[in-house]
Amino acid sequence: MAILVDMTGSESRLDAIKTDFKRLGVSDPVWLPGEDYDPASIELVLAWKPQQRDWSAYTGVRLVQSWGAGVDHLLDAGFPADWTVARFMGQSLKDRMVRYVCAQLSNWQLDMPRLVQAQNEKRWDWHDGRWGEQVLILGLGELGESVAETLVVQGYKVSGWSQSPKKLNGVESLTGKTGLNAGLAKADYLINLLPLTSATRGLLGSELWARCERQPVVMNVGRGASLAEDDLIPALEVGQLSGAILDVFDTEPLAAESPFWAHPNIWITPHIASISDPSDVIRLAIDNLRQVRAGESPRYPVDLSREY
Ligand code: NAP
Repeated sequence: MAILVDMTGSESRLDAIKTDFKRLGVSDPVWLPGEDYDPASIELVLAWKPQQRDWSAYTGVRLVQSWGAGVDHLLDAGFPADWTVARFMGQSLKDRMVRYVCAQLSNWQLDMPRLVQAQNEKRWDWHDGRWGEQVLILGLGELGESVAETLVVQGYKVSGWSQSPKKLNGVESLTGKTGLNAGLAKADYLINLLPLTSATRGLLGSELWARCERQPVVMNVGRGASLAEDDLIPALEVGQLSGAILDVFDTEPLAAESPFWAHPNIWITPHIASISDPSDVIRLAIDNLRQVRAGESPRYPVDLSREY
């Protein structure tokens, strides 16, 4: 068998992935796009925003393994409809997302930038904090569920919105438009953990902000294009929202000209909330390939026609 690693990433990162496959006991050749390999020999495609579009010569592919949890980057990759696709998921990814969300909520409540500035100026800047306890999580999947469960333990009141109803201890499950409206009306914090699909593109926009009653802080850790970027600053200016903590953007890296950088109530991180651990992804890819070869379904399979 052979493996194709078709990923947007620096050369050193791609070389590290090759080395990781070896370290985990895979002796089969690992190829990068542009190298001199036979497409028919490729059995596993490890992909992140793949460049390849014509897969007609890749007659032996058994599995496409997404490097990340999201699969929006694969929707226009042109894979034949009968290929098996799986996405990355694992405890490390959940833990990292939970830590990011909890840290940013705490940072917001303590107004950490203000405290860092005060320390730089050797000023004792005691303040009341910005407390709020009602959280609405948009998307109660693998990551949303982990975040919800931790926030409940931390004493937050948590609601979660998803397509299908959920049963999670201490978490209010909301569905449909009525459920979304009820959650928006009482939220102090909105955390987006929806996948990017045709239904969620631009969803976080003026229509939603008009239905918020408690000037929530929005945290986008799902996908950038779920946020209608042009609607954000107006919503902050009129007081529909108090702030925005953004890890993902429609275009990444965020352009230097974006007004988001300089806005006092917008915090920006560079798509870093929960990074896929390379060894965990490669381990899952190897296990999944084994399962597919044995005629079984891989772990975390994806039906691309459903978009997530
Ligand atoms: P997941 O397990 O597929 O869960 C998605 C959730 O969204 C499910 O609860 C689903 O409802 C719900 N949903 C989907 N479409 C919906 C719609 N139209 N209306 C209402 N609910 C809808 O996804 P995940 O693994 O938790 O990951 C979520 C996203 O996080 C990924 O797609 C990725 O974009 C993003 N992510 C970001 C980072 C980062 O570093 N910032 C890292 C990893 C992942 P059902 O449960 O009813 O299907």
